[in-house]
Amino acid sequence: MLQNIRVVLVGTSHPGNIGGAARAMKNMGLSRLVLVDPAMFPHHEADARASGAGDILEGAQVVATLEDALVGCNLVLGTSARDRRIPWPLLDPREAGVKTVEHAAQGEEIALVFGREYAGLTNEELQRCHYHVHIPSDPEFSSLNLAAAVQVLSYETRMAWLAAGGQATKVEKFEVNSVRSTELATMDEMEKFYEHLEATLVNIGFLDPEKPRHLMARLRRLYGRSSVNRSEMSILRGILTETQKAANGEPYKRKDQ
Ligand code: SAH
Repeated sequence: MLQNIRVVLVGTSHPGNIGGAARAMKNMGLSRLVLVDPAMFPHHEADARASGAGDILEGAQVVATLEDALVGCNLVLGTSARDRRIPWPLLDPREAGVKTVEHAAQGEEIALVFGREYAGLTNEELQRCHYHVHIPSDPEFSSLNLAAAVQVLSYETRMAWLAAGGQATKVEKFEVNSVRSTELATMDEMEKFYEHLEATLVNIGFLDPEKPRHLMARLRRLYGRSSVNRSEMSILRGILTETQKAANGEPYKRKDQ
């Protein structure tokens, strides 16, 4: 079940932090590391800090964008050291651990996303997440070292996993390979939906591309919070397709006609 969880580090500048994160993960039984556009990797400082967790670094996947890192993911938790302008569903690390394990036990793919040492995650990156996770540090000095933040979330994930019996559930054993319509839509399906939604809203004149007024961010928050599953996603896509046809003056054809 823990193999369904990937740790995503975005734009890391210090290779030592990548090594520290790998070690923190391995101590807690997590193994999948994805690096988005790291400044320096592979690097001897990463190897040194990983200590016995070199296998995690060797298996790390390096990708160009956060979108690439989230392909196939059903649930995305993004960590942030401070409040952002658009408030988002927020979890503390303990709640995040429980949610991560609950979804992983259903055979879903989960991403825990961490930001840059100096600038964290951008608003756009944070808007790709279903939930934000804040470690309740002292507000006067709220930002943890990146590898320390990875340690806190990995630890809480392990505690939740141990509390759940520390093993694969029945659901995972028997259903993990079948595509179930109740499974949450993946991030790539959600991204295609947002593109389709945006195009449709422009088509019908609801969204003015010159004055977007954070509409897409607000809609991402709404649909992200709704935990859309795969069969609901095909309904939403169907509605958009028909809306576009109607906007173009094409008549609606009932399926039985
Ligand atoms: N100045 C940046 C700090 C980044 S710290 C900012 O304000 O966002 C590097 C990364 O460590 C963050 O992007 C986040 O992934 C993680 N992190 C650090 N402190 C955290 C905290 N208190 N809660 C959650 N994540 C934290």
